[in-house]
Amino acid sequence: MSDPITVIPLPQPVLLPVEGSAERFPVRRVYCVGRNYADHALEMGHDPSREPPFFFQKNADNLLPAGKAFPYPPLSNDVHYEVECVLALKSGGANIEAADALDCIYGYAVGIDFTRRDLQGEAKKLGRPWEVGKAFEHSAPVSSIIPASRLGHPAEGKIWLEQNGKRVQDGDLNQMIWKVPEIIAELSKLFTLAPGDIIMTGTPAGVGAVARGDRINCGIDGVATLSVEVV
Ligand code: MN
Repeated sequence: MSDPITVIPLPQPVLLPVEGSAERFPVRRVYCVGRNYADHALEMGHDPSREPPFFFQKNADNLLPAGKAFPYPPLSNDVHYEVECVLALKSGGANIEAADALDCIYGYAVGIDFTRRDLQGEAKKLGRPWEVGKAFEHSAPVSSIIPASRLGHPAEGKIWLEQNGKRVQDGDLNQMIWKVPEIIAELSKLFTLAPGDIIMTGTPAGVGAVARGDRINCGIDGVATLSVEVV
Protein backbone atom coordinates (compact mmCIF):
# COMPACT_ATOMS: atom_id res chain seq x y z
CA MET A 1 0.00 0.00 0.00
CA SER A 2 1.40 3.39 -0.90
CA ASP A 3 1.50 6.20 1.66
CA PRO A 4 -1.64 8.34 1.74
CA ILE A 5 -1.35 11.85 0.35
CA THR A 6 -1.66 14.17 3.34
CA VAL A 7 -2.48 17.88 3.59
CA ILE A 8 0.41 18.48 5.98
CA PRO A 9 3.59 16.41 6.46
CA LEU A 10 2.95 13.10 8.28
CA PRO A 11 4.02 13.40 11.96
CA GLN A 12 7.07 11.25 12.64
CA PRO A 13 6.44 8.07 14.65
CA VAL A 14 8.20 7.88 18.02
CA LEU A 15 10.71 5.00 17.99
CA LEU A 16 12.72 3.80 20.99
CA PRO A 17 15.94 1.80 20.68
CA VAL A 18 15.94 -1.85 21.76
CA GLU A 19 19.04 -3.00 23.64
CA GLY A 20 21.23 -5.25 21.53
CA SER A 21 19.15 -4.85 18.37
CA ALA A 22 18.94 -2.62 15.32
CA GLU A 23 15.15 -2.87 15.50
CA ARG A 24 13.19 -0.21 17.29
CA PHE A 25 10.05 -0.09 19.43
CA PRO A 26 7.26 2.16 18.06
CA VAL A 27 5.34 4.08 20.74
CA ARG A 28 1.57 4.55 20.74
CA ARG A 29 0.56 6.00 24.14
CA VAL A 30 2.35 6.79 27.42
CA TYR A 31 0.48 6.01 30.64
CA CYS A 32 1.80 6.84 34.11
CA VAL A 33 0.80 5.57 37.56
CA GLY A 34 0.55 8.03 40.45
CA ARG A 35 1.74 7.37 44.02
CA ASN A 36 2.68 3.73 43.62
CA TYR A 37 5.34 3.53 46.35
CA ALA A 38 4.17 4.05 49.93
CA ASP A 39 7.15 6.16 51.00
CA HIS A 40 6.64 8.55 48.05
CA ALA A 41 2.89 8.84 48.76
CA LEU A 42 3.83 9.80 52.33
CA GLU A 43 6.39 12.42 51.28
CA MET A 44 3.72 13.99 49.02
CA GLY A 45 1.34 14.17 51.96
CA HIS A 46 -0.98 11.30 51.04
CA ASP A 47 -2.26 8.14 52.69
CA PRO A 48 -0.22 5.24 51.30
CA SER A 49 -2.98 2.71 51.89
CA ARG A 50 -4.04 0.57 48.98
CA GLU A 51 -6.62 2.86 47.46
CA PRO A 52 -7.26 2.14 43.76
CA PRO A 53 -4.36 3.22 41.52
CA PHE A 54 -4.84 6.34 39.45
CA PHE A 55 -3.35 7.18 36.10
CA PHE A 56 -2.37 10.13 33.95
CA GLN A 57 -0.75 10.36 30.54
CA LYS A 58 2.18 11.91 28.82
CA ASN A 59 2.45 12.20 25.06
CA ALA A 60 4.46 9.73 23.00
CA ASP A 61 6.64 12.54 21.68
CA ASN A 62 7.46 13.68 25.24
CA LEU A 63 9.80 10.66 25.46
CA LEU A 64 13.46 11.64 25.36
CA PRO A 65 15.70 8.83 24.08
CA ALA A 66 18.91 7.97 25.94
CA GLY A 67 21.89 10.13 25.10
CA LYS A 68 19.93 13.37 24.75
CA ALA A 69 20.11 16.22 27.26
CA PHE A 70 16.96 17.35 29.10
CA PRO A 71 16.23 21.01 28.41
CA TYR A 72 14.87 22.75 31.54
CA PRO A 73 11.25 23.52 30.60
CA PRO A 74 9.61 26.96 30.56
CA LEU A 75 7.20 28.43 33.15
CA SER A 76 8.53 26.45 36.11
CA ASN A 77 11.03 27.02 38.89
CA ASP A 78 10.54 23.64 40.52
CA VAL A 79 11.18 20.74 38.13
CA HIS A 80 11.49 17.40 39.95
CA TYR A 81 13.02 14.06 38.93
CA GLU A 82 11.08 10.81 39.52
CA VAL A 83 12.89 7.60 38.56
CA GLU A 84 10.48 4.91 37.33
CA CYS A 85 10.37 1.39 35.95
CA VAL A 86 9.00 1.57 32.40
CA LEU A 87 6.96 -1.15 30.67
CA ALA A 88 6.71 -1.48 26.89
CA LEU A 89 3.68 -3.48 25.68
CA LYS A 90 3.63 -5.84 22.70
CA SER A 91 -0.07 -6.66 23.05
CA GLY A 92 -3.07 -5.25 24.85
CA GLY A 93 -6.83 -5.36 25.10
CA ALA A 94 -9.53 -4.40 27.58
CA ASN A 95 -10.15 -6.06 30.96
CA ILE A 96 -6.90 -8.02 30.96
CA GLU A 97 -6.64 -10.49 33.85
CA ALA A 98 -3.67 -9.89 36.15
CA ALA A 99 -2.66 -13.52 35.58
CA ASP A 100 -2.31 -12.84 31.83
CA ALA A 101 -0.83 -9.35 32.11
CA LEU A 102 2.88 -10.19 31.95
CA ASP A 103 2.30 -11.78 28.52
CA CYS A 104 1.53 -8.26 27.21
CA ILE A 105 5.01 -6.95 28.05
CA TYR A 106 7.62 -6.70 25.31
CA GLY A 107 10.29 -5.29 27.58
CA TYR A 108 11.44 -3.03 30.37
CA ALA A 109 13.38 0.23 30.67
CA VAL A 110 14.28 2.83 33.26
CA GLY A 111 12.90 6.33 32.82
CA ILE A 112 12.34 9.65 34.54
CA ASP A 113 8.93 11.25 34.99
CA PHE A 114 10.12 14.87 35.06
CA THR A 115 7.45 17.02 36.70
CA ARG A 116 6.87 20.76 36.86
CA ARG A 117 5.95 20.40 40.55
CA ASP A 118 4.87 24.01 40.94
CA LEU A 119 2.42 23.76 38.02
CA GLN A 120 1.23 20.33 39.17
CA GLY A 121 0.65 21.70 42.68
CA GLU A 122 -1.39 24.60 41.34
CA ALA A 123 -3.45 22.20 39.18
CA LYS A 124 -4.11 19.96 42.20
CA LYS A 125 -5.20 22.94 44.28
CA LEU A 126 -7.58 24.19 41.59
CA GLY A 127 -8.90 20.73 40.65
CA ARG A 128 -7.46 21.11 37.16
CA PRO A 129 -5.85 18.45 34.91
CA TRP A 130 -2.17 17.59 35.38
CA GLU A 131 -0.91 17.90 31.81
CA VAL A 132 0.86 21.21 32.37
CA GLY A 133 2.82 19.60 35.20
CA LYS A 134 3.52 16.30 33.52
CA ALA A 135 3.14 16.21 29.74
CA PHE A 136 5.61 18.86 28.63
CA GLU A 137 8.32 18.60 25.98
CA HIS A 138 11.08 16.04 26.66
CA SER A 139 9.56 15.29 30.09
CA ALA A 140 10.23 11.54 29.95
CA PRO A 141 13.85 10.48 29.35
CA VAL A 142 13.95 6.72 28.86
CA SER A 143 16.68 4.11 28.39
CA SER A 144 16.80 1.53 25.62
CA ILE A 145 14.20 -1.20 26.06
CA ILE A 146 15.44 -4.57 27.26
CA PRO A 147 13.26 -7.40 25.89
CA ALA A 148 11.54 -9.57 28.49
CA SER A 149 12.58 -12.54 26.35
CA ARG A 150 16.11 -11.88 27.62
CA LEU A 151 15.39 -10.28 30.99
CA GLY A 152 12.35 -12.11 32.33
CA HIS A 153 9.93 -10.09 34.49
CA PRO A 154 11.74 -8.45 37.41
CA ALA A 155 9.52 -8.13 40.51
CA GLU A 156 12.37 -6.89 42.69
CA GLY A 157 15.63 -5.03 42.30
CA LYS A 158 17.01 -1.67 43.43
CA ILE A 159 15.61 1.37 41.64
CA TRP A 160 17.72 4.44 42.27
CA LEU A 161 18.65 7.94 41.13
CA GLU A 162 21.80 9.96 41.69
CA GLN A 163 21.98 13.74 41.33
CA ASN A 164 25.54 14.96 40.73
CA GLY A 165 26.91 11.75 42.24
CA LYS A 166 24.71 11.79 45.35
CA ARG A 167 22.10 9.05 45.74
CA VAL A 168 18.75 10.75 46.35
CA GLN A 169 16.29 7.99 45.44
CA ASP A 170 16.90 4.46 46.65
CA GLY A 171 13.95 2.07 46.43
CA ASP A 172 13.15 -1.44 45.29
CA LEU A 173 10.68 -2.65 42.69
CA ASN A 174 9.22 -4.91 45.38
CA GLN A 175 7.94 -1.77 47.19
CA MET A 176 5.30 -1.04 44.53
CA ILE A 177 1.83 -0.78 46.08
CA TRP A 178 0.24 -2.02 42.84
CA LYS A 179 2.42 -4.66 41.19
CA VAL A 180 3.06 -4.68 37.44
CA PRO A 181 0.37 -7.31 36.58
CA GLU A 182 -2.17 -5.40 38.70
CA ILE A 183 -1.27 -2.08 37.04
CA ILE A 184 -1.93 -3.55 33.60
CA ALA A 185 -5.17 -5.18 34.76
CA GLU A 186 -6.46 -1.96 36.37
CA LEU A 187 -5.39 0.28 33.49
CA SER A 188 -7.07 -2.03 30.97
CA LYS A 189 -10.41 -1.57 32.77
CA LEU A 190 -10.21 2.14 31.91
CA PHE A 191 -8.50 2.10 28.50
CA THR A 192 -8.04 -0.45 25.73
CA LEU A 193 -4.32 -1.15 25.74
CA ALA A 194 -2.46 -1.88 22.53
CA PRO A 195 0.98 -2.79 21.18
CA GLY A 196 3.27 0.21 21.50
CA ASP A 197 1.84 1.45 24.79
CA ILE A 198 4.33 2.54 27.44
CA ILE A 199 3.53 2.46 31.17
CA MET A 200 5.58 4.37 33.76
CA THR A 201 4.97 2.60 37.05
CA GLY A 202 5.55 5.25 39.72
CA THR A 203 8.49 6.50 41.77
CA PRO A 204 9.95 5.70 45.19
CA ALA A 205 10.66 8.39 47.81
CA GLY A 206 13.33 11.05 47.49
CA VAL A 207 11.99 13.21 44.66
CA GLY A 208 13.55 16.65 44.44
CA ALA A 209 14.33 19.63 42.26
CA VAL A 210 16.88 19.76 39.45
CA ALA A 211 18.88 22.70 38.12
CA ARG A 212 20.57 23.39 34.81
CA GLY A 213 23.95 21.69 34.77
CA ASP A 214 22.83 18.76 36.93
CA ARG A 215 24.00 15.28 35.92
CA ILE A 216 21.33 12.70 36.67
CA ASN A 217 22.21 8.99 36.71
CA CYS A 218 19.52 6.45 37.43
CA GLY A 219 18.90 2.77 37.06
CA ILE A 220 17.20 -0.44 38.00
CA ASP A 221 19.74 -3.06 39.07
CA GLY A 222 19.76 -5.94 36.62
CA VAL A 223 17.64 -4.02 34.08
CA ALA A 224 19.10 -0.75 32.77
CA THR A 225 20.79 2.54 33.57
CA LEU A 226 20.26 6.03 32.15
CA SER A 227 22.32 9.21 32.30
CA VAL A 228 20.79 12.63 31.59
CA GLU A 229 22.22 16.13 31.74
CA VAL A 230 19.89 19.04 32.58
CA VAL A 231 20.62 21.97 30.23
MN1 MN B 1 5.67 9.66 38.46
